[in-house]
Amino acid sequence: MCSGRVDLAFVLRAFSKGMDGVFIGGCRLNECNYSTHGNYDALNMVLLCRKIMEHIGVDPERLRIDFMSSAEGMLFTEVMSEFGNKVKELGPLGKAEGIDHNELRSKLAEITKLVPYIKVVKNEKLASRLENPEEYDKLFTKDEIDKLFSEVISYYIDPEKCQACMTCAKRCPVEAIISAKNQVHVIDQEKCIKCGTCFEACPPKFGAVTKISGEPVPPPIPEGERTIVRKSKER
Ligand code: SF4
Ligand code: SF4
Repeated sequence: MCSGRVDLAFVLRAFSKGMDGVFIGGCRLNECNYSTHGNYDALNMVLLCRKIMEHIGVDPERLRIDFMSSAEGMLFTEVMSEFGNKVKELGPLGKAEGIDHNELRSKLAEITKLVPYIKVVKNEKLASRLENPEEYDKLFTKDEIDKLFSEVISYYIDPEKCQACMTCAKRCPVEAIISAKNQVHVIDQEKCIKCGTCFEACPPKFGAVTKISGEPVPPPIPEGERTIVRKSKER
């Protein structure tokens, strides 16, 4: 119902399903019936997504957002026909950009996996309200987006420090932490959405969760070596 509901993941999914263009129509800015002004969220998501598209070599003109009221049928048809012509002119997705179909799909899948992370990192900008269209292109810059992907943070539990208090596992929103009583906890990197909750939740006296950027995450400690032997039991 609200353009603010159009998630970055939805747009990426449309492109990964082979759509040549995506159009999002929202109510006029500052004319939202609610206090939420979701159309600004949609606008910011589109501005971010266009920069991501540039980053992976897809023409950002394939994604467009426009704002109009439900009484502006003529404007809607004009915008849609203009956009339709633009997409035809651009040609088939990937082919026109010279990117192999499978390579494009795997790039889109990689980015889609990072959507929750991207939203956490860019939270402030995604919530901003730009009044002037001239500011649109400055909200997210190419360098910023390149850096975002080159410095992706992964979370890792140091087996030497983990005390199996289970706090992180209880707080992880996607059950990505392999947890058991008296067992060193391990993050399943495939499931982890890089939200950072475990990093914040691990008690400072343990400080077992670390952030890793720019280098590979160490392999998980083998299952048979995860039992924590408490000092009192050693004696
Ligand atoms: S960062 Fe931590 S809390 Fe967040 S999804 Fe990954 S393992 Fe779970
Ligand atoms: S919160 Fe820290 S100490 Fe507790 S189980 Fe998780 S990583 Fe280990």
